[in-house]
Amino acid sequence: MKFLCVDCDRQMAFEERAVPGDGTLAAVFTCPSCGRRTAMLANPMETQLVSSLGVKVGGRTVPDANFEGIRTGVTAGREDAFAPAPETPSDTQAGPVRWNVDAVERLGHVPSFVRGMVKKIYNEYAKERGIEEMTPEIMDRARSDLGLEGM
Ligand SMILES: [Zn+2]
Repeated sequence: MKFLCVDCDRQMAFEERAVPGDGTLAAVFTCPSCGRRTAMLANPMETQLVSSLGVKVGGRTVPDANFEGIRTGVTAGREDAFAPAPETPSDTQAGPVRWNVDAVERLGHVPSFVRGMVKKIYNEYAKERGIEEMTPEIMDRARSDLGLEGM
């Protein structure tokens, strides 16, 4: 991940990074030519995604975000981070969440390289709330509750 200053056509230099502790990430980049600064902000979901993909921001790997619910099994650099969500038992007693046809259809629109992770997030959301069947309505609620608009 890098940023370019459009005016100068130069790669911007990493200046500082802040992880406020709520799972969000902020990084500031400066153009070495004109001094223009730009900031990258990531919400907890995006931070977790960057982290799980092992992407280095500013030369350092983003630490695990303390994002409740999805930490289990999604650790930085895991080799099967791209794999579909495994049907493994979670730490709750609840059975697996059923996905109805519409929810599966909706999930199909998610880019395949993050689909497994997105599905896992929705499953965790449902399990935490005792929801047995995933529907587009639950997905909407989860996105709203978790601040995942745009995903
Ligand atoms: Zn510049």
